[in-house]
Amino acid sequence: MGTENPNRASYSQRPSTSPFFAAQTASPFSSSTPVAGAEASSFHSYNPIPSSQIPPSSSEASGFRSVQPGRSNDPAGPPPPPSYGPPQTGPFQHLSGPQFSSPVQVPSLRTSAGEWPVVAPPVRPPAGPFSSTPVSFQMRPQPPTIPFGSPPQSMNTVQPGMNVPLSSVDSPFGASSTNLQPSSPPMRAPFPAARGTLQSAFSGYPGQQYNIVPQAPPVNSVAFPPHQGGSVTPPPAVSGPYVGQQGGYVQSPPTTAPVGMYSRDRMQHPASLPPLGTAQGLVEDFSSLSLGSVPGSLDAGIDSKALPRPLDGDVEPKSFAEMYPMNCSSRYLRLSTCAIPNSQSLASRWHLPLGAVVCPLAEAPEREEVPIVNFVTTGIIRCRRCRTYVNPYVTFTDHGRKWRCNLCSLLNDVPGEYYAHLDASGRRIDLDQRPELTKGSVEFIAPAEYMLRPPMPPLYFFLIDVSVCAVRSGMLEVVAQTIKSCLDTLPGFPRTQIGFITFDSTVHFYNIKSSLTQPQMMVVSDLDDIFVPLPDDLLVNLSESRTVVDAFLDSLPSMFQENTNVESAFGPALKAAFMVMSQLGGKLLIFQNTLPSLGAGRLRLRGDDARVYGTEKEYTLRVPEDPFYKQMAADFSKFQIAVNIYAFSDKYTDVATLGTLAKYTGGQVYYYPNFVASIHKDKLRHELGRDLTRETAWEAVMRIRCGRGVRFTSYHGNFMLRSTDLMALPVLDCDKAYAMQLCLEETLLTTDTVYFQVALLYTSSSGERRIRVHNAAAPVVADVGELYRVADIGAVVSLLSRLAFEKSLSYKLEDARTSVQNRIVKALREYRNLHAVQHRLGGRMIYPESLKLLALYGLALCKSTPLRGGYADTQLDERCAAGYTMMALPVKKLLKLLYPNLIRLDEYLLKASFADESENIWKRLPLSAESLDSRGIYIYDDGFRFVLWFGRVLSPDIARSVLGEDYAVDYSRVCLTEQDNEMSRRLMRIIKKYRESDPSYYQPCHLVWQGEQPREGLYLLANLVEDQVGGTNSYADWLLQLHRQVQQNA
Ligand SMILES: [Zn+2]
Repeated sequence: MGTENPNRASYSQRPSTSPFFAAQTASPFSSSTPVAGAEASSFHSYNPIPSSQIPPSSSEASGFRSVQPGRSNDPAGPPPPPSYGPPQTGPFQHLSGPQFSSPVQVPSLRTSAGEWPVVAPPVRPPAGPFSSTPVSFQMRPQPPTIPFGSPPQSMNTVQPGMNVPLSSVDSPFGASSTNLQPSSPPMRAPFPAARGTLQSAFSGYPGQQYNIVPQAPPVNSVAFPPHQGGSVTPPPAVSGPYVGQQGGYVQSPPTTAPVGMYSRDRMQHPASLPPLGTAQGLVEDFSSLSLGSVPGSLDAGIDSKALPRPLDGDVEPKSFAEMYPMNCSSRYLRLSTCAIPNSQSLASRWHLPLGAVVCPLAEAPEREEVPIVNFVTTGIIRCRRCRTYVNPYVTFTDHGRKWRCNLCSLLNDVPGEYYAHLDASGRRIDLDQRPELTKGSVEFIAPAEYMLRPPMPPLYFFLIDVSVCAVRSGMLEVVAQTIKSCLDTLPGFPRTQIGFITFDSTVHFYNIKSSLTQPQMMVVSDLDDIFVPLPDDLLVNLSESRTVVDAFLDSLPSMFQENTNVESAFGPALKAAFMVMSQLGGKLLIFQNTLPSLGAGRLRLRGDDARVYGTEKEYTLRVPEDPFYKQMAADFSKFQIAVNIYAFSDKYTDVATLGTLAKYTGGQVYYYPNFVASIHKDKLRHELGRDLTRETAWEAVMRIRCGRGVRFTSYHGNFMLRSTDLMALPVLDCDKAYAMQLCLEETLLTTDTVYFQVALLYTSSSGERRIRVHNAAAPVVADVGELYRVADIGAVVSLLSRLAFEKSLSYKLEDARTSVQNRIVKALREYRNLHAVQHRLGGRMIYPESLKLLALYGLALCKSTPLRGGYADTQLDERCAAGYTMMALPVKKLLKLLYPNLIRLDEYLLKASFADESENIWKRLPLSAESLDSRGIYIYDDGFRFVLWFGRVLSPDIARSVLGEDYAVDYSRVCLTEQDNEMSRRLMRIIKKYRESDPSYYQPCHLVWQGEQPREGLYLLANLVEDQVGGTNSYADWLLQLHRQVQQNA
């Protein structure tokens, strides 16, 4: 591949070899577009409520505005109307109840708008070579005078009604607070200066003369002896910069208070909690490592296995649920620290991000599903002032006639239908039947006032590159087959809608209406003034048009198998897809193989320039160059369209630019560099299949509210921010998480508890409008030690990663890494200073048990694909794709990517029985070459791929059993398949189990021999984050470096 495309950068000429060339030069459509006015190509979106605009969203520069049709609620003003108000505009006002069940209705909707009867353009079949393709595609001319329900749409003729969903979804989320500032601080803000004084992770620690004497972190409940010289583990006799402290194990100081700060009964009454932590002060437990030097000896006294590592995976802090048992599960919401500082000065001593990570649709295990509540008669109970939904933390008073909002303290009336008596303890007597008052998470069925149009049907639209690269790589065939195989399981039957556009140097539309037996193809070659022929028949009800859709997908690969077109009219095709989808919204899946070369949005081969690295312009490689894509993304978001990008190119394809389509629409980027179907088809099949069939929420908006005194200031992930705090998510699913930072609004908080409420308003695939609500509470504390004690490393790392990646879009990679390091140093220094005076800490590294993995994850983050090294370390497209992916990952997925599993398998494979399968195959090892035994087989699993590593002296019998007779050949060519023996079956069973346990991506299996370069280095050694690879630090060096910096100015 690739040699067929030598003229890629010359965009002006269409190759005359194209089989479609003759047919496309004289498009019958180009002259009949009724909208070719002055603005026909200027691509203005209709803005029904022009008076309100959103401010630039996070990391947005300019010209990226979107509509904010919602109203902002002034807490002092009258309560917002409970409904969206009457439907005012658009075709949807004629509807009642869920519609869209048939394609007959959809055209009728559009016809009902009726203002623009249009004469259809004559459709002429493309002549020439196309007709000789073996496919029995009907190229029948269209009847010349089909009355269109709506005109061939151009961007500036969007009907007003299309914006209805915006205002509809917006209103019930009336702003919870006023005077909010723009959502994101400048990119630099989260990383206070101080860089320059610190070495970066990659500066390479100059010497190896220090050894680390690691300690097992003390267990909090252990009664430690006083910290006396005699009580520590005998140290190796050494001298060095940490003279006084080389004595191995250093215990935690004795505690004078019960270890658990919160006795169980206090936890049960969150409202009565006093500000916490004041009494404990400096006597709190902490963990430490003693860092001593052992000159001339690398091994003496070192037990590197005792360094803190996440070998048990992500261990969530218990404090979140223990303190407030009615909090939602941490799979939905995690705070970076489960306590809120009571003052701004205290908050400033928490040097890590303060905020939350939300995964609103996380998959729940059986019997833990979110309960559904239907307030049939009463309407949904919400606070009059701040619009908080009723939840377990509200309190009922006045004999049950009033309820007090836990976020804003307003006393609300209890509607008559919702009234219940209170028992002697003040609890409602009907609590047993009220999940919304007892569970941290509930889902309300939204009544009619939460919608202005009927809930949209699930809609899948496919935009597929059919240029020569797409065909020859086999991508087209795999995509067509996979889509077809998923048609029975697309969510939302029988309402699901579907449609297709393909493109090379022209844009191809497909009429797939149910009355046809074969699809009809229409080609538009006027790229400057793209329009949509037959807009009513391009998007159809899947169940009704199933036969035609099947026929289309069956014939699609062969239709283009002789295509030699090397061009890509991606931008015009994108516009066309927008026009087709904008009536309903939905999910747009783009399969892109050739750098866009024709029409709007064409991209140049700006490529990856080594000379730019390390300069102030470095970041420009990683940000979109052409504003076209940001503008398109804004329009997609406005019309409830999410974009998923599948990028395949074997060359530079500018993922940085294309990815913006996913970033601002709640979408996702999938990247398959050098895609070859014979090798990569399983990955594509699985991931596309999951994308198509996972449970999906549509036309969603999300807001996270919090109690008085704090507010969310910035949001990070794939979405568009509408107003100051409303996240527009045209589509979302269980594989997406979002992060946000909060700050204190007031100098001093006077409350004991801060409450949070995540509210997600969405349309389910089954066509119900729903509101999913997650509630949480956290104590307000006055003690900085307490902030650190209840930190959640998973949430901290999630926020740090997102901020660091965003920073790399404005600064050098090195700056992004340095900012991570600076934060870690500051946090550790702050914590150390709490204890240093009282306890002679000397050379010990001090950290809270909750953050024992902070240094390791920080190192892993700096070595991760989006942030690692420089020009030579990662392909630019791969770096950008990984960054987009990382921005959306849920906590557990992210932690596994940063610190992947390394597991030894051969011992298990050789066992006589596999009774202990469940334990042994999950035993993780430190991510270091030291973990690898030349006699073994190991698997490395980062959630996105497996690497199966075979030791050099592995028994040939084992290798033969697992690999078959191919075991001695070049491993890059070996495809792991099941052999006819028990060992092989076991191995395949393990791999299957791993995949099933982590289904959001497919892990292809790479086989590597020990010593086989460069593959071993590429696939495995470079990813062993604890090792010193290239110019990077080893884990031990990194700890030493951090420790030295912590001690500076300590
Ligand atoms: Zn309220």
